[in-house]
Amino acid sequence: MKFYVSYFGCRTNQAEIQELIIKLENIGYELTSNASDADFGIVNTCSVTEKAEKDVFRFVNKIYKKTNAKWIITGCTVSKEKKNLKNRYKNYYFLDNIEKKDIFKFISNTFPIKGNVIYHTSYRSRFFLKIQDGCNFRCSFCIVPFLRGKSISTPSSEIIAKAKYFSSVGYREIVLTGINLSSYGYDLFPRENLLNVIKGLNKINNIEFIRLSSLDPRYVKYSFIKELSYIQKVANSFHLSFQSGSNSVLTRMKRGIKTIEYLKMLDNFRKFFPEANYGADIIVGFPEETEKEYQETLSFVRQSNLSYIHIFPFSPRIGTKAALIEPVAINIVKRRVKEIQGMNKDLKLNYKEKFKNKVVEGILTKEGEDRSFVVSSNFLTVSVPPTKGYRKKRVKVKIIRVFNENICEGIIVENKKNMTCDL
Ligand code: SF4
Repeated sequence: MKFYVSYFGCRTNQAEIQELIIKLENIGYELTSNASDADFGIVNTCSVTEKAEKDVFRFVNKIYKKTNAKWIITGCTVSKEKKNLKNRYKNYYFLDNIEKKDIFKFISNTFPIKGNVIYHTSYRSRFFLKIQDGCNFRCSFCIVPFLRGKSISTPSSEIIAKAKYFSSVGYREIVLTGINLSSYGYDLFPRENLLNVIKGLNKINNIEFIRLSSLDPRYVKYSFIKELSYIQKVANSFHLSFQSGSNSVLTRMKRGIKTIEYLKMLDNFRKFFPEANYGADIIVGFPEETEKEYQETLSFVRQSNLSYIHIFPFSPRIGTKAALIEPVAINIVKRRVKEIQGMNKDLKLNYKEKFKNKVVEGILTKEGEDRSFVVSSNFLTVSVPPTKGYRKKRVKVKIIRVFNENICEGIIVENKKNMTCDL
């Protein structure tokens, strides 16, 4: 029996789908990349912004018209719009985020098969491993806690067991994900902590890098950063949920933190990870954001010397406090987004230029006729001359030039077998 998968939104949604693929293959379901070839399909949805939700409805509309497969629609849009979805798409299955926890059982009961095990082969070198779900915060713009519930962590023993399995089937990089990853372990009894999980993963042979998908500065202490720097396989890139660079906007966002604390945290990080790739989420056009507040965010981004930012135009989510506040005019939001996108391009280029003629370590993720690609520990995508048989190998790459804000060009100078690469 063939199945097709699709997901929208965050790394946690991606991690949930990646894990489900392995589980289904392990009992004989066959993954297909062609939706019209599938017996059933699974879509993990997102409603974090209005645009994300529109994309989901557009996709479900399309499959409803174009495929005969039975579809399981799950995730945040179902938690928010179940009734509406059920009325519009008959004969489809809708599992909200609570019911999603039993999706594997639901599929084996709904689409029973007597198939031979299909041993999973890792399609990528990177595996997104969800270790935490939900959130206990109530940021005024965010709908996620209402759709995913309170923070729940996976016990570390389970995480290590999964990671051992994923590395045994060929994954070389583990990306730890969660809705609020930094809140990992606070809900467990006895309490567990993120550092111990990372130390446990560090002992697994085939894993080359451990990457943290996103960190909440409200949890990140000096001691955490210091200890993290002693763990050999921690990837040299950190994504931080800042949301704004203006203190008055942060207050209206109910973030409970000030920009001075962000800068202090970045200073601490740079003591132990001086060359790391630091990125952050920034919302532009938060309700009542004045030009002065927007300029505060621009100068904060410059001052914090970030290497890139993920820019989110504010999207009012019904049910959140921020949706009740007078929005900023759309033309002003668009102008601000365009301006900060320009700044973002320079941030990316400036960071990459620092590595010209330097050697970085990474994993060769793609081999092609013309070019192969390496993703480095500090999250640079480096295009190198074509290779054969090096996929998923750890290699050293010398950066020759910056091709554009997303890609560098380089040559492999060494691979894990310490053989000079004869390219
Ligand atoms: S920390 Fe805030 S923004 Fe992040 S998921 Fe929780 S409520 Fe949403």
